[in-house]
Amino acid sequence: MSNQPVGEAMFGLIEELYPICRSITGNGVRKTLARIGEVVPLDVYEVPTGTQVFDWTVPREWNIEEAYIEDRDGRRLVDFANHSLHAMSYSVPIDDTFEWDELRPHLHTIPDHPDWIPYRTSYYKENWGFCLPDRDLEKFKAGPFRAVIRSSLTDGSLTYAESVIPGSSSREVLFFNHVCHPSLCNDNLAGNAVMAELARRLRERKLKLTYRFVWAPGTIGSITWLSRNEDRLERIHAGLVGVLLGDSGPFHYKRTRSGTTEIDQIVEFALNESQPDARLLDFSPYGYDERQFGSPGIDLPVGRLTRTPNGEYEEYHSSADNLDFVRPEHLADSLHLLERIVQLLEGNVVYQNTQPKCEPQLGKRGLYGSTGGSQPKQLEHAMLWVLNMSDSRHSLLDISTRSGIGFDVVRAAADDLVGAGLLEERADPETLGE
Ligand code: ZN
Repeated sequence: MSNQPVGEAMFGLIEELYPICRSITGNGVRKTLARIGEVVPLDVYEVPTGTQVFDWTVPREWNIEEAYIEDRDGRRLVDFANHSLHAMSYSVPIDDTFEWDELRPHLHTIPDHPDWIPYRTSYYKENWGFCLPDRDLEKFKAGPFRAVIRSSLTDGSLTYAESVIPGSSSREVLFFNHVCHPSLCNDNLAGNAVMAELARRLRERKLKLTYRFVWAPGTIGSITWLSRNEDRLERIHAGLVGVLLGDSGPFHYKRTRSGTTEIDQIVEFALNESQPDARLLDFSPYGYDERQFGSPGIDLPVGRLTRTPNGEYEEYHSSADNLDFVRPEHLADSLHLLERIVQLLEGNVVYQNTQPKCEPQLGKRGLYGSTGGSQPKQLEHAMLWVLNMSDSRHSLLDISTRSGIGFDVVRAAADDLVGAGLLEERADPETLGE
């Protein structure tokens, strides 16, 4: 299938980004964005430490060079050089010797999965720690142990990036994904790679809507982005947080806060078309950045698309979320679903029938009985549906759903009717009926 080359390309990007130690700030994020910028041009923004963003403050910038624990014979028992998960993110610098009892509270493992390294952070509370396979605890025999973390917490900045792809309308679609996790593949490199490829593809198309892609750290990044873009939010017509897009699980769509916006309807429709195992979840104020987009004072029509949701797979937030856990074919599948969602967003228009009193005479306009293509009857049928329901209250998606005729046929029928002057786009396509 033609899925394979693009899946492999996205997987290749993940392989390159995998070793980098990312966090909510720091050079790992910059390096990652620089590489994504080779796929699609990015505007990179730096927001200084101390900047107030709603109720939060941009934290100090964290960077790390080295972290290890050695026993009294100088043998390294755990070493950040081997895996970026070994150092707890935002660990303060340390270089000291500890007895076992003092060291143990700083060691994190997953006893149920003794070979996996957990992912731990301490962004907003000063602390330090090491994460390691539970099995490796038995290496800690002869204390005292020397723990070294060469990290820095300095006044720097938080980094995020945007790629804006202008359409003929200033109405925007927002695609948001987080970029703050270290060596973890599904969360979040899969989203990073799929969004980069989607943006690259959209740049080559003629678009009606404007698409704004954002790569930013989770939580503090979306809060920062929202606080700096408040004046632009009313342009956002639809959006998705797109994360966890590389595993083998079925798609899960988490609805927007209201649950009844166009993006909710479109994603549900796209999943119905091609994903029989997909599941729909109602909004809840827990999860990823959709929490911020769905906060009461923001309340944007932004849903969330994942495959298996966060916390619902064993490998989540552990070293087992690795290059074996994400597969090129699942990345490609996610990309194609998102492309279909874009196609529906672009094509879903509300029209007004310009000849609403009885049926217009299609034959004299060359529209009836003269249609080409493989399904002329269906196209004619679709025209009648479009004419009947184009009363300024129903979108083409509503018409497709109601008539049971596929969206692409309904869209083609509308194109013919627009060409014949029988439909006009409604000026204000907000507040649909039904
Ligand atoms: Zn995560």
